[in-house]
This record gives sequence, C-alpha cells and structure tokens, in this order.
Amino acid sequence: MRTKTTTAEADGAGGAGGPVRATRAPRRVSAVQPGTPVAAQLLRTTLKQRFGLARLRPGQQGVIERVLEGGSTLAIMPTGSGKSLCYQLPALLLPGRTVVVSPLIALMKDQCDSLAELGVSVVQMHSAAGTEAARAAHAAVADGSARIIMVTPERLCDPEFAALLATHPVSLLVVDEAHCISQWGHDFRPAFLEIGPALARIGKPTVLALTATATGEIAADICRELGIPDSGVVNTGSYRPNLDLRVEQVAREADKLERVAKLVHGTQGCGLVYAATIKAAEAVAEALRQAGESVGLYHGKLPAAERHAQQEAFMRGEHRVMVATNAFGLGIDKPDIRFVLHYQLPSTLEAYYQEAGRAGRDGAPARCTLLFLRGDKAIQQFFMAGRYPGEEEVIALCGALRDAPPDGESWTLPLLQGRLARPRGKLRVALGLLRKQGIVEQRADGTVRLLRKDIGGAELLPLADAYQQRRDGDREALERMVFYAQTGQCRWHLLLEHLEGETPFERCEHCDNCRRIAAHEKVLEHLASQPAEPLPEPREGRHHAPAHATDDAPPARGTIVNVRRYGRGVVEESSSMQVTVAFTDGSRRSFLPEYVQKLREAPPRAPRRTPVRRAELLVASAG
Ligand code: ADP
Ligand code: MG
Repeated sequence: MRTKTTTAEADGAGGAGGPVRATRAPRRVSAVQPGTPVAAQLLRTTLKQRFGLARLRPGQQGVIERVLEGGSTLAIMPTGSGKSLCYQLPALLLPGRTVVVSPLIALMKDQCDSLAELGVSVVQMHSAAGTEAARAAHAAVADGSARIIMVTPERLCDPEFAALLATHPVSLLVVDEAHCISQWGHDFRPAFLEIGPALARIGKPTVLALTATATGEIAADICRELGIPDSGVVNTGSYRPNLDLRVEQVAREADKLERVAKLVHGTQGCGLVYAATIKAAEAVAEALRQAGESVGLYHGKLPAAERHAQQEAFMRGEHRVMVATNAFGLGIDKPDIRFVLHYQLPSTLEAYYQEAGRAGRDGAPARCTLLFLRGDKAIQQFFMAGRYPGEEEVIALCGALRDAPPDGESWTLPLLQGRLARPRGKLRVALGLLRKQGIVEQRADGTVRLLRKDIGGAELLPLADAYQQRRDGDREALERMVFYAQTGQCRWHLLLEHLEGETPFERCEHCDNCRRIAAHEKVLEHLASQPAEPLPEPREGRHHAPAHATDDAPPARGTIVNVRRYGRGVVEESSSMQVTVAFTDGSRRSFLPEYVQKLREAPPRAPRRTPVRRAELLVASAG
C-alpha cells in the first residue's frame, strides 16, 4: 500500500468526512494520509455516513487511494462497477473542490440529482441550465461552497469560466467517459481535446480519467493528453459474467424487422435496441409498436426536449424497450436492463462492449444479441469516410493562420471556422494534431497561433499520413467487429483478448458459441462410445473421390458426418466453400464440402435422461 506523498497541509485533516475548505492552492494535498489507519477509518465512515454503503468494491479502493495521494489516474473499470464513487468519495475528503467533465448533459443531471440527494453540495454548469439555476450555480462556484462542479468540456475551456474557477482551489479534475478524448475511441468528441490544455489554467489539479473501454492504444492516448503517468493506469478487467453474448446471422434485410420483433417479444424485462442509422431506428421502433410493444425512440436528430422526455420515460419504466442510435446511453444508470439487441453492426468492438454493457448493471443475467447481416458492414464504411479531416483541412488551416486575423484580433476556432467554412469538428481535430506536433499553439484563453510560419505543404503531408493511419485503424477495428460476428470461438474470449490483450479463460461456457461447442462435444462423446456402424457406400469407388456431388447443399451445423481417413464427427461451421468438422478424438478440421459425407441430419437419439439428450436438443436448436 502506498504511503508516500504530499505535504499534510490539510486544514481539517481527520474531520468526519464533511467538506473541508481550503484557503490556498492545495497542490497535490490530501486531507488524509492515505495508507494510514486514520485514512482507512475515515474512508469507511465517509462511505457509510455519506453514501450509505458498507464497503468499497474491488478496484474502487486502489483508485481512491491513488487519487487521495495526488496521483493522476486512469481507471478502466467495467460498466456498473461504480466509477462515480471513485471521485465522489475523494471529493468529500480533498481540501479543494472537484471539477467533473462529462460528455452529456443528461448524464450530468443524473449524477447531480443523486449527489444532491446525498446532501453533497454540487452544481452543474452547461448551456441547458435555466437562468435561475445558472445564477445559483455561478454563485456557489464563486463563493466556494460547491464541492463538486459538473461541466461540459466546452464550458471548462471557456476563459470566463476558468477565471471563475480560479477564485478557489481545485484539487481534482475528473474526466468521465474518458475514451471520448481519444481519436481511437468510438465516442470521440473533439471538444475533449481541449481539456488537456485547460489543466494549467485551473492550477494543475490531480486528474482522474474514468472509462469502461480502453484498449492499450486508447489508454495511451488518454494518458498523454491528460498527463497521467503509465504507472497511473488502474485496469480492473472487463469481464461481465452475467452478460450472455450471442449473434444471430440473418440472410436477408427483409427478415430483420420480423426477427427483432420475435427476439424482443421472447425476452423479459426492459431492454435497448441499437440501430446504426436514424432511419433504421425509426423502422425498428415502428415495427415493434406494430407488434404491440411499448417503445421509446431516441436519436440525435430529435429536439433536445423530446430526447429528454424519451429518456425519462424509459428510465421510469414507462417504455419497456428503447430503440436508439448510439446517441443514447452514455453513462445511463438504469440497473435493470435485461437485454441489449443490436439491429446493425457497431463500428468497433469497444463500441459494442460499451453499448451491450448497458445491460445487467445490477449483476443479474442479461442477454446481448447482435443481429448480423453481412451487408451491414457497408453502413459503417460510409460513416468512416467522413470522420477525419483530410490534408485539405490541415493545409487550409495553416494557410488561414498565416494570414492576419480579421480586425487585428487573435485567431480562435470560431473565427477559423468562419473563414474556412468547414465543419468545426474536423477543424478542431486538425488543430489538436497540429498542436501535438508543435506547429500551432492553443492558449488558455482559446486563441490560436501558428508557431511555424515557414511550414509548407510538404511538411504537412506526414500529418495526412497520420490521418491515413487512423483510417486504416478504423478499418481494422471494423474487421474485428465483423470477425466477432462470424467467429465460432468463445465470444467473451475474443472480446477480452481484444480489450485487454489476454483472457483468464479459453471458454466462458455461457455464450452462444460455448453452448454450441459443449453440445457438440457431448454428441461426440456419445458417438465415441457407440460401436462403429457400417457407413453408406460411397458413390464412387476411388479413395480420394468426393463423398457426394458438388451440387448438394453443404451439411448444416450439428449434422453428423463421415470424412474418409478421419471418421465420424459433427459439423461445427459450414458454408458453400468449407465445412469445419469436430472429430471424436478432439481434433477439428476443415474440408471442401464435397468431401464431407452426411450421415444423419439430426443427431442420434440417445436413451432417456442422459446428458446426451439435452445436448441433442441444443445441437438441433444451434443448427
Ligand atoms: P459506472 O460509472 O462504473 O458504470 P456507477 O458509478 O454509475 O457505475 O455505479 C453503478 C451502481 O453501483 C450505482 O447504482 C452505485 O450506487 C453502485 N455502487 C457503486 N459503488 C458501490 C459500492 N461500493 N457498494 C455498493 N454499490 C455501489
Ligand atoms: Mg459512469
């Protein structure tokens, strides 16, 4: 346990967890010495008295201790594991205040409400606040009474707001859903790039970044952007054993709506259906309504008030099903979502994990199903095309910065946008990249200056390469998503290998593939225990001849087959090109379909009340 750090300058150290007012900059100063018995006791009492909780969960303890020590930290913890408490508890113990940057106003509101209920002095500052609420929040920030201040990234970077914050010290800056910072992250928000530069303006507080999904690349990006050391990454693992992962292959677009209605109808409890496009979301919502379901609809093109009303209705349980695009759900704390159904392929495995992970936050079983139609990949490819600025944007940006700004002012992002008439998001991303390369400077007050006036197109080309790399990265990520949809392996194994680079197991034993593999193994055990039966005569006499004519349909999954030289086995995967067979000796091999001889379409009947009987049923349904 760490004991080092920080000058124990805290006024009020050892107080019973109430807010502690700081009078001067509490740089890396904690109200308690972490690792000491006093600290442990103080944590426990605060947890109990202020939050009504008996103990910290695994993962929370380590993060909270680090933060109290003043160690900047990236916490990667699964959805529902309690990331919010990792800053809420320190916020009550640290001398200065805590600023929380959150991507969504709805998310901020949720957290604000629950903190206010606990009697914590918290304010939220964003564009959607009413005049009266905004005035009260402003006053609480100005007089130092607000312990927790929740803001959007845009607000944090507003120079006026920074000046207001500077009136009292900030101990901790929290970035919730921090994967939004990384351009490799699926929820990437350009405004998040401005948090790093804003840190200095608010006195370089300790930083705590929170996310449920960060591959090594995303984690490295977050750490670089926020100045978190490599040793500050706390990763508690992403495995959620209560989530039952499955994929349903669909052959035709026309079958999908009917399939969705059946799946929703056949699942109990409330759930989410994600679509990749607004058009598809509307069609699914309509189809489910026609099927008699109670449905909400949420997407980015709805007016804010309507989105809010839809979300509230779902949270209150008025709609059983919420059909949405990926605009819905970030940080939504509805614990009893029993299913998440993807109507179309998401863009990456991280996005899939994040969205599917909204199911079962209460720890009870929940089902995550992906409907997979091969052609859906094209939708994501379409989105990809417009994601990054091209070299034209970078060159145009440098060109504009070389000119004198209008009216002798300094360049700012809005001015640049006005001059170049290009999307703000793309310009922001381009600026972020130029800043990282030391080509432009973005000052605390939001002004932008070209540092390298001599920079020419040739030097900017490598930057275009960087974008090209990102595009390639996106393409690869989509391929992995497709691979997940088509694999015959354990789905959790594949997902964890992607997210964490390693997995604690080969098979989770509860995804669709693991269930199918287990069922096949039981059939194989049964086959191995039976005396060999005479095989049907091959159609041709030659040893290497195909087992059947090539125009026969390939054997379906679960069919018992014979392959010359290898004997009997069960079909695991099958297409017109290749059939994969599991044999009784435990081996798996793939063949051209015409070399595989069907013995029985249905698995063998076994005596009653043996495990094989159950296996047969499973095989039959898996096929
Ligand atoms: P995350 O942000 O990681 O998805 P939240 O912070 O929203 O998760 O917390 C999920 C739920 O877990 C909340 O209802 C919260 O009250 C609960 N929770 C958090 N920490 C604990 C704890 N130590 N003991 C019991 N419940 C907890
Ligand atoms: Mg959260």
